[in-house]
Amino acid sequence: MKEFRTESKKLLDLMANSIYTNRDIFLRELVSNASDAIDKLSFQSLTDSSAKLGDEDLEIRIAFDKDARTITISDNGIGMTEDELEENLGTIAHSGSEQFKEANAQTQGGEVDIIGQFGVGFYSSFMVAKKVCVTSRAFGSDETYVWESDGAEGYTIERADQNRPTHGTDIVLTLRDEPEAPADGEEAEAGFDTYLSEWGLRDLVTRYSNYVRHPIRMMVTKSRQLPKPEDAPEDYTPQYEDYEELETLNSMTPIWRKRKQEVEQSDYDEFYKSTFHDWDAPARTIPFHVEGTLDYHALLFVPGRAPFDLYSKDYQKGLALYSSNVLIMEKCADLVPDYYNFVRGVVDSPDVSLNISRETLQQNRQLRAMARSVERQITRNLQDMRDNDREAYEKFFDNFGRGIKFGIYNSYGAKADPLADLLLFWSARDEKMITFAEYVAAMPEGQDAIYFVTGDSRDRLSKMPIVRTVLDKGFDVLLCTQDVDEFTFQAMRTYHAKAVAGDSQKAGRDERDYDLKNVTSGDLDLATDEEKEAAEKATSEHEGLFTALADKLGDKVEKVVAAANPTDAPARITTEGPVSLEMERVLAQGPEGMEAPHSRRVLELNAGHPVFDKLVAAQEAGDDEKLGLYASLLYDQALLVEGLSVDDPVAFAQNVCALM
Ligand code: ADP
Repeated sequence: MKEFRTESKKLLDLMANSIYTNRDIFLRELVSNASDAIDKLSFQSLTDSSAKLGDEDLEIRIAFDKDARTITISDNGIGMTEDELEENLGTIAHSGSEQFKEANAQTQGGEVDIIGQFGVGFYSSFMVAKKVCVTSRAFGSDETYVWESDGAEGYTIERADQNRPTHGTDIVLTLRDEPEAPADGEEAEAGFDTYLSEWGLRDLVTRYSNYVRHPIRMMVTKSRQLPKPEDAPEDYTPQYEDYEELETLNSMTPIWRKRKQEVEQSDYDEFYKSTFHDWDAPARTIPFHVEGTLDYHALLFVPGRAPFDLYSKDYQKGLALYSSNVLIMEKCADLVPDYYNFVRGVVDSPDVSLNISRETLQQNRQLRAMARSVERQITRNLQDMRDNDREAYEKFFDNFGRGIKFGIYNSYGAKADPLADLLLFWSARDEKMITFAEYVAAMPEGQDAIYFVTGDSRDRLSKMPIVRTVLDKGFDVLLCTQDVDEFTFQAMRTYHAKAVAGDSQKAGRDERDYDLKNVTSGDLDLATDEEKEAAEKATSEHEGLFTALADKLGDKVEKVVAAANPTDAPARITTEGPVSLEMERVLAQGPEGMEAPHSRRVLELNAGHPVFDKLVAAQEAGDDEKLGLYASLLYDQALLVEGLSVDDPVAFAQNVCALM
């Protein structure tokens, strides 16, 4: 027996001793090796005229024997000579070995998940097998050799008693014994029996090796109905028989490698539905191919509706990552930004190493480059949908818009370009969803802010007096009903409008920033000079009244003033500073015990309203009680108009009665 070299031993040791969760990949590794061996042979026959291939069928075969507990993976590829068996299987030959050595040195061989990170190739068979036997005949040779090992100390290589009929390799894994049944209350250990079943192996092939270029075949048992005998009685029940058939398990040509023009949308839809387990067809299919220093195919999908767990902690974003048709990672999170977490799909590049590790993914330059162009493609497709299929886009936005808003908020506005232009808001004036760009394009001369209001219902917001006032001035107001809206606007602060070219009415508008203004904020500067003057006059004339009212309201308000932006309401509440009323409401729903910030409220009175005259009269008559009653009522009803609840509903009801 020959001894394994040190590195191999360490790796094998780790594999045997760690209960590795992803041992399913052993088949993928062996199938990939088999596929490579077939490729090498095809390549040689192309370049070397002495190596002419017959018209044999190049294929990978999988078989299992339940009683002997063996799985056999065979290929009729290039095979290995005695020396090659020694060289390739006696040491860690694969490209991940350097990284493995490093990781192993760092962890001193502890129980770590390094096996899954490196894709350890042939040796992964020892995760499931207690003995591995490799019988190989190299192409052009008439000698067959057998390599055998239990994965512990060493291996043997011997000449086979019988020659393999053709070139190629058979790998026979004798599976480990089933773990003992668990004691009461203990969780059962996962066993190996699933690998000794047709469905178990089929599942592994379709999951990990579905798009391997060469056919992966297995004898499968099928059932068929026997013909009905002529003399069958009336109550004859159909009879069945089992039969065996060689079936190709993998689909071979990956749909993402086909040219867009060659694929029907219905094929994409089917692929999407079966791969991502969705009932509905995707809203958008994005196939693309990048060539150059980095070569890859990608096929992305925007789902037709949001998965139920999209906004939960358990949701995992990511694209499937393939290298030359072999699945490396089911959900590579680094390939999509969080705000596009809903996108599903596949990226396949021969340039990505099979042995790529999770850590190096983040630092991997190729992957970062792919992630950048994936993001660009998604953005471009969403823009196209927005501009050319608004109905579909509105539905999309309904499903996924919230995440995009979070993208702006979470990046503190850094991602506002291009994300802001993907947002849609309800226009109070046009009564439909519009973009910021559309809002800006429809602005009258002289408007220099984008107005919005936030709250829980569009209907209520559209009836707010201040909203009516702004609309009456000819300015549109965006009615925003999602909790994240105002936070998004705060992160953006301004909307950067691009210059409008062309000869439309709005052409010639320069590129510039517009402030985003909540119409309920106190610094809304909409009043005409006369209105401002009137407000100032009222404030100074009735200074005593305002002070008295502020006294009555105590710490509920910062101050009471004459409204500069008059509405048809007698009073309204505005806020000073960064926290609006709506924001206060949203934040108050935060985790219990968290002190939510309070808005700084200002009660604005409409000096032109008959109610104001009543206040003046009460003060002049020195009726302190009535003044207090009026102050409370005005404050409470202004809160109600803003969609907030009054602090003390009982007191409010009593006040109304007292008034009547
Ligand atoms: P890797 O595939 O990353 O190189 P492995 O440990 O899986 O590493 O395999 C080591 C080498 O053994 C391969 O590079 C290949 O040369 C050889 N090999 C493995 N399986 C086969 C096979 N089925 N046919 C021919 N050669 C094989």
